[in-house]
Amino acid sequence: MDYARIILKPKKEESLLRFHPWVFSGAIQNIIGTPKEGDLVEVYTCNKEYCAIGHYQIGSIAVRILSFEKQPLVYEFWRDKIAKAYQMRVALGIADNSHTNTFRLVHGEGDSLPGLIVDVYGETAVLQAHSVGMHYIRQDLAKAIVEVMNGKVKNVFYKSEATLPFKANVDAQDGYLIGDCQGECLATENDLKFHVDWLKGQKTGFFVDQRENRALLERYSKGRSVLNMFCYTGGFSFYAMRGGASLVHSVDSSAKAIELTNQNVELNFPGDKRHQAFATDAFKYLDDIKKDEYDLIILDPPAFAKHRDVLRNALQGYKKLNAKAFEKIKSGGILFTFSCSQAVNKEQFRLAVFSAAAMSGRNVRILHQLTQCADHPINIYHPEGEYLKGLVLYVE
Ligand code: SAH
Repeated sequence: MDYARIILKPKKEESLLRFHPWVFSGAIQNIIGTPKEGDLVEVYTCNKEYCAIGHYQIGSIAVRILSFEKQPLVYEFWRDKIAKAYQMRVALGIADNSHTNTFRLVHGEGDSLPGLIVDVYGETAVLQAHSVGMHYIRQDLAKAIVEVMNGKVKNVFYKSEATLPFKANVDAQDGYLIGDCQGECLATENDLKFHVDWLKGQKTGFFVDQRENRALLERYSKGRSVLNMFCYTGGFSFYAMRGGASLVHSVDSSAKAIELTNQNVELNFPGDKRHQAFATDAFKYLDDIKKDEYDLIILDPPAFAKHRDVLRNALQGYKKLNAKAFEKIKSGGILFTFSCSQAVNKEQFRLAVFSAAAMSGRNVRILHQLTQCADHPINIYHPEGEYLKGLVLYVE
């Protein structure tokens, strides 16, 4: 098959030679052929040497590389990549686990499949395309997931209306590509149960990336009064309850999220009076509470910086939020604080939290430095893949 050819400007192949999986539009000298968004294109140096093949995209990232070898990208190629991703989860002990049936099967660049996210919830996989190229091959991907998971996954739900580039103008309707999850869809994480709403929920329905951090929180919860800010479906809250917290308050500005949190707490701890949830703004809630009400606070806000150009404001946001927590947390308290903004790196986040701590004048020690869990791997050639950053702090 003849693919359009992207010819790079001199020296612009250097990042590709180091296996970085993106070609920026500014690196392109000329294009031979007229690729449409989502087409496969081959990338060549200005001396006509082959570099890689990938999906073409209109925008600052012009090509997302799928292979550095010259090979046909047919069904077997996708199936083998998904099989490799699955084998890694098996090796991690996360697939085929009697305590957890929720995990990320494919993590974009981390699994050498830029533009593709797949989360598994029991018998259902939720497939999310972030590139038009992945949108076009969604049926093949769904078929490959079912084949690789060998009967464990029976349904594949496609959820890309919100993640495909806005201007791409493709007809991406959310819905089942294979099967249909009849009735209530419950998933399990470390023996805790939760409803997953992949139809209307955020992301693929649940924040799978916090599993190990939630388990760590459980260990710190005994006898503590816990405030779970930005709780969404309540993940941290029910780990805290199982860990023996004396009370757990969950806060989210979305009434729907609060409803989901209450449902999930009821599912795991029916009638347990230790839990209460509040639909309100996190900043306002922290302003209104008295000092010393809580001795374990979780701050897991949405990405404050979706792009680099809003980085300054984002860092101010993290500083302000964390400063409020330092001001109110009880002496001897523990703060779990996160940033999931890809545009904010580890050092910048730490500096924002450091500035917030300095404002409070309190003595603060770092106990743990956290990241996304292992089924969200970071491709070593693509450091941008490290998006979740967390600090566990002891506040005197
Ligand atoms: N900690 C969650 C994930 C958090 S996602 C988990 O473990 O699953 C971020 C959440 O913050 C979303 O549910 C969103 O509704 C909520 N949110 C966004 N802005 C907010 C604000 N200003 N105050 C409170 N909640 C907010």
